[in-house]
Amino acid sequence: MENTFLNEIKGLLEAEKAKIELELSRFAHRNTQAVDTDFDSDFPSFGDDEDENANEVAAYSNNLSLEDELEKVLRDVNDSLRKIDDASYGTCKYCQAEIAEARLRARPTSTSCIACKKTLTQEV
Ligand SMILES: [Zn+2]
Repeated sequence: MENTFLNEIKGLLEAEKAKIELELSRFAHRNTQAVDTDFDSDFPSFGDDEDENANEVAAYSNNLSLEDELEKVLRDVNDSLRKIDDASYGTCKYCQAEIAEARLRARPTSTSCIACKKTLTQEV
């Protein structure tokens, strides 16, 4: 793949990464003991009333699922960035063909080509 294209994708991925980390930082903090994709949700504090305590638990549980989702995307983004660095980016993990640039541009974390993706989706 061309360097100009890879640089463009790298820019997209880094922007995505910054967005996810900003989103996570609204309700979680980075777990400094672990890998860079691990965040821990903070327990919210609304007050000491029973109602407020119940709301805290509900908000915390929402945050946990959002945290999980965002961490998953962040992992994909980091994987793609790593692949750009070791020059394995843009290769289909099933058939090893080059993934079309238009597909990568639309979804920079794609790991399979359109043909394989279609086959997989039809099988399910
Ligand atoms: Zn493929």
